[in-house]
Amino acid sequence: METTLVLLKPSCVQRGLIGEIINRFERRGLQISGMKMMQLDDEILRKHYAHLVNKPFFPALAGSMKASPIVAMALTGVEAVTVVRGMTGFTNGRRADPGTIRGDYSMSNQQNIVHASDSPESAVEELSRFFAPEEIYQYNHALAGYLYATDEAL
Ligand code: UDP
Ligand code: MG
Repeated sequence: METTLVLLKPSCVQRGLIGEIINRFERRGLQISGMKMMQLDDEILRKHYAHLVNKPFFPALAGSMKASPIVAMALTGVEAVTVVRGMTGFTNGRRADPGTIRGDYSMSNQQNIVHASDSPESAVEELSRFFAPEEIYQYNHALAGYLYATDEAL
């Protein structure tokens, strides 16, 4: 099992899409291991987007991420990082495939509804940035026997 970080961005919160997006993850079979609303600030955004801090669009990106609270989620499943990135779609919503979250809900390269960790290593780092250890719950997933074959759900 793997756990990945998802942020429901202000573009999701303000458009009233929180429930719809969470529903997609639940229906796919991902387990919600942690979830909370947070107001982000420059300090956490400079770490979270360290690879983009020197880009000209960083101030606008940071502004868009501070525009309202976000919802942080820890999602667990077999290969959860890859599964959730696939569900998220290409960064620019205009070019994201229909059927992905961005391809179904976004017209923007910035206001693109969700963040999702892009590798197992960044998932570990990002989860520790947004969640205290006691905020991530390991609990029996009652449907696991119907979501996975016995040799898959390790
Ligand atoms: N972003 C932007 N302009 C760009 C590229 C990215 O505003 O030209 C924003 C966008 O919101 C994106 C975030 O920066 O989701 C992080 O960029 P990254 O390249 O990591 O894309 P992601 O992993 O979110 O698909
Ligand atoms: Mg990224």
